[in-house]
Amino acid sequence: MPHDSHDPLDHPHSHLPSDPALRVKALETILTQKGLIDPAALDEIIDTYETKIGPQNGASVVARAWHDPSFRAALLEDADPVLAALHLNGRQGEHVVVVENTPERHNMVVCTLCSCYPWPLLGIPPGWYKSDAYRSRAVREPRKVLAEFGVILPAETAVRVWDSTAEVRYLVLPMRPEGTEGWSLEQLQRLVSRDSMIGTALARRPEDLDAAL
Ligand code: FE
Repeated sequence: MPHDSHDPLDHPHSHLPSDPALRVKALETILTQKGLIDPAALDEIIDTYETKIGPQNGASVVARAWHDPSFRAALLEDADPVLAALHLNGRQGEHVVVVENTPERHNMVVCTLCSCYPWPLLGIPPGWYKSDAYRSRAVREPRKVLAEFGVILPAETAVRVWDSTAEVRYLVLPMRPEGTEGWSLEQLQRLVSRDSMIGTALARRPEDLDAAL
């Protein structure tokens, strides 16, 4: 297997781009030249995922659910019309189920088959979410995986793992931290991390925000 060598000194193809970014650029150039893609459309998609679609969308939904009991009830009952009204549905988020953490039950989301994920709410999935290790271990030993993420749950809290598919994607509604009574939506939203909506973290506590300043 001569192509397995990664030493640039003995690799005959070392002048070729090895950086994935360069390879992507090369592919983009070829596809553009063949008229298969429009660079302007590509830029718009990239801009959308860089600046408009990301965990801040999910965090705004969670903050509102903490703030407004009727919104929370509607979200848990049937998230799709609620998210559609907020324009937070669409590609890779056609059917979303919101699962609520409680002292009795902690929810955690995985896609054992690939990497299904609610893009309109959380953006592009993190690398670890797509890894073989997370996908297989999340279902086999969820408490151990959670501990590796720094989440130690009380023994009496059950862990429920939800397996996403292309048809159903899940959003975890984390527990609202104590000491946040009377907080505004904007303040609450800062407590909601991406991982807390996947279930591999808890919501930040008010003292975590102080520490980050
Ligand atoms: Fe998947």
